[in-house]
Amino acid sequence: MRRPLIMGNWKLNGNKAVVTSLLKDLDAQLVGIEGVDVAVAPPVMYLDIAEKQINELQSKIILGAQNVDINLSGAFTGDISPEMLKDFGATHIIIGHSERREYHQESDDSVAKKLAVLKEQGLTPVICIGESEAQNEAGETLTVCARQLDAIINAQGVEAFDGVIIAYEPIWAIGTGKAATPDDAQRIHAGIRSHIAQKSDTIAKKIIIQYGGSVKPENAATYFMQPDIDGALVGGASLNATDFASIVQAAAKMKN
Ligand code: PEP
Repeated sequence: MRRPLIMGNWKLNGNKAVVTSLLKDLDAQLVGIEGVDVAVAPPVMYLDIAEKQINELQSKIILGAQNVDINLSGAFTGDISPEMLKDFGATHIIIGHSERREYHQESDDSVAKKLAVLKEQGLTPVICIGESEAQNEAGETLTVCARQLDAIINAQGVEAFDGVIIAYEPIWAIGTGKAATPDDAQRIHAGIRSHIAQKSDTIAKKIIIQYGGSVKPENAATYFMQPDIDGALVGGASLNATDFASIVQAAAKMKN
């Protein structure tokens, strides 16, 4: 039985007051919802405030981050190390988000290195994979996802995926309101799982695969109904405590 994870990616949004109030509101709205892990990834500037707020509320919300560098320390101006994230209580670290791949030229290989470093440091990578609209239209979705996974499998072995979370995020569905249909998402999730199963059935069976791309309270349950969709990575809707909590509630209902 895979425990669902709903993670909010706050991207480049918020300020001190928003981070504090959003966590407070969210924590209050999560009361009574069981059987789902909930994580948020605020901008790294606000991890300190977020950690303090989570501790003060004695909240079960898991703290995450949106990116990490592969180096632990040294002359790497502007970067944030896994140890620094750990220092602020962040455990679930998003890597390979399509916005980082596009705007910061992150390659499959650099994402693979980030995954290895996070695991060495005892952190949980949340690795985003997914295809562009053109690749989708050309029927290349599974090929693209397999290539992104193979960058890790070929370098580190399938064991590298033990304890990792995969977020399947079709790029054309991110922030567009144009979500994948639940049937299509299920088909791709099953394909991702079976790609991993070719190397390890045990890891494939236990790996959490989230769907991401315009998940909203209105469509969340239709994804969580699918057997291979184990949660969601949520952008826009995670900035509203009521919307995000209702996505968590949908997962609790459909998965338990
Ligand atoms: C994301 O950025 O990971 C995401 C899924 O965004 P949205 O929910 O806004 O589509």
